[in-house]
Amino acid sequence: MITHDIEAAAESLRRGDVVAFPTETVYGLGASALDTHAVDKVFALKGRPANNPLIVHVSTIEMAQELVTSWPDHAAVLAEQFWPGPLTLVLPKSDAVPNNVTGGGGTVAIRMPNHPIALELINEFGGPIVGPSANVSGGVSPTAAAHVDGAFTPDILVIEGGACTTGIESTVVRVTEDCAQVLRPGVIGVEDLANVVPVVESDPVSNTAAPLPSPGLLTKHYAPGTPTKFADEVAEDQLGAGAVLLAISPAPAGQKSIQMPTEAGAYAARLYAALREADALNADLILIERPTGIGPIWDAVRDRLRRATAAG
Ligand code: AMP
Ligand code: MG
Repeated sequence: MITHDIEAAAESLRRGDVVAFPTETVYGLGASALDTHAVDKVFALKGRPANNPLIVHVSTIEMAQELVTSWPDHAAVLAEQFWPGPLTLVLPKSDAVPNNVTGGGGTVAIRMPNHPIALELINEFGGPIVGPSANVSGGVSPTAAAHVDGAFTPDILVIEGGACTTGIESTVVRVTEDCAQVLRPGVIGVEDLANVVPVVESDPVSNTAAPLPSPGLLTKHYAPGTPTKFADEVAEDQLGAGAVLLAISPAPAGQKSIQMPTEAGAYAARLYAALREADALNADLILIERPTGIGPIWDAVRDRLRRATAAG
C-alpha cells in the first residue's frame, strides 16, 4: 500500500516490520538493521540467499561509526565528499550489527542516501535501516513506488517518493587504512574516488577481488522476465514484429521501440522503468541498443545491461 506517512512507516519499523522507501538510487526494502528478526523478514520477502549481504542506510556519520570497529581516514574523506549520495563503504563490522545483515561476513556495507524521505525515515525511526532493492531477488530494481506496490506477499507499506533520480544502484567500495577498492560500479566512478583517496583497481565483472559473494555482482541479475539481448548480438530477422527495442538512435521504421535518453545520467535514471515497460508489452524479446558512451555512468549502465542480458 502506498503511503505518504513517514511517521507511520517509522512506527512499522519500530514494530520490527518491513517498509519500502525511496532513495536516489532505487527503492529499498527497509527494516531495522539492528533487529535480526526484522532483517530475516527482508531476506524472506526478497527470496534472497542468506549469504548475500545487505547495505545499511544511515542518516549521520555517527550512526555509521556505531556499525564499524574502525573508521579509517579514507572512509572519513569519502563520506565527507560523497555522502549523502550513491556511494557504499564496506568496513569491518562492530558487534552491534547482526550477522545476517552481513551474510555471515566480518564486514558491513554502509551508505547515507541522498533522498529527503529516506533521511527523514531513518531520523524518525532513530537508527540504521537495511535497504536492499525492493524487488524479488534477481528481478529488475524498482525506481518508482508503483513498481513496489503489490509486489510482495504479504503486502508492505511503500512510502511515495517520486521517481528515483540516479536510477541504478550505488557504487560499492571496500575501504582500508591504505586504499579504496571498487566492488560494484555505479555513477560515482574510479576517477571520482581517486581524486580524494588512493584507489586500487579490481575486477567487478569477474568478482575476483570481492571478499564476499555479492548478489549485485552475479552474472544474471536485474533481468526482466522476457528474454533480453543486445540488438547487435541477434540476427537481423529477430528485429521486427515480436521484439521491442530500447533504442538510443532513432528506431527503424515499423520497429516497436522505447526511446531512451541519449545523456548518461538520464539513461541510467530511466533504465529500470524502461525494462519494466518493455517486459509488460509481452514481447518475445527485449532488444537493447548497446550504449557506446564514455565515462563512469555509461560503464555502470553497461554493467547492469550485461547482467540483464546474461543467459541462465
Ligand atoms: P543491493 O542489493 O543493491 O542492496 O546491494 C547489496 C550489494 O552490496 C551486494 O550485492 C554486494 O555487492 C554489496 N555488499 C553488501 N555488503 C557487502 C560486504 N560486506 N562486502 C562486500 N560487498 C557488500
Ligand atoms: Mg538488488
